[in-house]
Amino acid sequence: MWQRETDVIVVGYGGAGAAAALTAAQAGAQVLILEKNPEGGGNTKYSGGTLRTYRDATKAADYIEALCDGATERDVIETFIREAEHNTQWLTGLGGEVIHIDTPPASFPSSIVVAFPGTRGADGIGTRTRIKGTGHAGGIDLWGVLERNVAKSRIDVQYSAPVTELLPDKSDGVVGVVAAVDGEELRIRARRAVILTCGGFEYDTAMHLNFLGQRYFGLCNPGNTGDGIRLAGEIGADLWHMNGVAGTLGYKFPEFPCGIRQSMPSAGYVYVDQTGRRFMDETGTDAHLMWSPTSYIDTRTLRRTRIPCYVIFDEDTRMRGPVAATGHGKISDFYQWSADNSVEIKKGWIQAAQTVADLAARIDVRPDYLQASIAHYNLQCVGGYDADFGRAPGMLVPLGRPPYYAIETWPCLFNTQGGPKRNARAQVLDYRGSPIKRLYSAGELGSLWHRNYPGAGNVTEAMAVGRIAGRNAAGEPVVRA
Ligand SMILES: Cc1cc2nc3c(=O)[nH]c(=O)nc-3n(C[C@H](O)[C@H](O)[C@H](O)COP(=O)(O)OP(=O)(O)OC[C@H]3O[C@@H](n4cnc5c(N)ncnc54)[C@H](O)[C@@H]3O)c2cc1C
Repeated sequence: MWQRETDVIVVGYGGAGAAAALTAAQAGAQVLILEKNPEGGGNTKYSGGTLRTYRDATKAADYIEALCDGATERDVIETFIREAEHNTQWLTGLGGEVIHIDTPPASFPSSIVVAFPGTRGADGIGTRTRIKGTGHAGGIDLWGVLERNVAKSRIDVQYSAPVTELLPDKSDGVVGVVAAVDGEELRIRARRAVILTCGGFEYDTAMHLNFLGQRYFGLCNPGNTGDGIRLAGEIGADLWHMNGVAGTLGYKFPEFPCGIRQSMPSAGYVYVDQTGRRFMDETGTDAHLMWSPTSYIDTRTLRRTRIPCYVIFDEDTRMRGPVAATGHGKISDFYQWSADNSVEIKKGWIQAAQTVADLAARIDVRPDYLQASIAHYNLQCVGGYDADFGRAPGMLVPLGRPPYYAIETWPCLFNTQGGPKRNARAQVLDYRGSPIKRLYSAGELGSLWHRNYPGAGNVTEAMAVGRIAGRNAAGEPVVRA
């Protein structure tokens, strides 16, 4: 009946899967990782790889609880913070050099970059860290440490092996999985437990429309297609945080399967909607919540007039540096944006015109509206006061010298947060709140984070909850064959 067996099966070889596998193996379990792609790393490898430290556990729990709007239980948050406190030590033990990104905390909290600083408990948040390395993005360096340690352990990794089904037993819980290995469906037995660490649904448009209410483009690993939601859903798992995302703005060109993160080199730019009007504080919105203002629907026409929207900038901004970040994210496998944006102008990805009216014609918005928007914005720059959206005075840089430029701009996903609900032990729960026996999860699949995501939290969670899941899965009694 079984073609293969092991103690613990880990489904998905990204950061959470690696942390879970290493911990389960350390606890003495035989571990098999099944990864859908021909290589590991998932979203983790393409990320900035920043982790968050917490300097006061109670205040940090208040902060996360407030950001989650009551949608995450307090004990789940507290257990996560307690485990996350060991992240630095754990990663150092694996041979990684953990460095602090933020200014050393001479005077808390002003020297720490904390999103939503007005939130209750924000002064309990510590610095951000990453693994020191040669890469310009921390994800690749973090992944290097994890992958090296898995390689020198006794953990088996099977690539190109998507898990297609969980195999539940009425009395024992999840006792194995079906995986497509080399085109053949194998039934693989898990003597102790199965851990789902197969990421989110960044590349499933139907799930975007159903759970998130609008379309996004993924910036990350195209293997993240919501498989864990279907696998766990099929055997009765409850779901949570399904409308939670870390989403920013970016570009999508048919040449690539993924989006490209926008990154403006100066404040001399605005966003306008399809009618040519500004609609947000472009420079003061947290990077992970940039998607939010785009979700507007014109209730008279039912048009989503901000998807896509347009970023408009001038020659000075164009000359200051690339308007895209291609150093990390999936795009880094395919393309490096030019330093002065000239290549992308030639490709036609960036529209250019000598007048604002001509630029409007190129992107099909009303010239009179776009001209009025830019003139009004420039006037506010002179006055140093953005009466419309409260952009900080220091960020009020007018659009001056032509040519003027425009790029179609879309909501793009760092990652989704939804998935099977889990408890503080990382056990997946059913709709009655009971653990589904021998089924665990970790990482962004059913993350504890919800809609108000503050950054650096998903990798922190992947490491910490990955270890919780690995430890508890390894501690499950062996199920009888
Ligand atoms: C550009 C970018 C920057 C980011 N920067 C940060 C940051 O600095 N800090 C931070 O905290 N977060 C950041 N994030 C988010 C963060 O990277 C992820 O949330 C986190 O790495 C998720 O880890 P994971 O292990 O849960 O999932 P992943 O690392 O995505 O791993 C999931 C794995 O499961 C595999 N899989 C999927 N389905 C199956 C299946 N059926 N069978 C087998 N395998 C399967 C996938 O192929 C993948 O390899 C960033 C994301 C992006 C895109």
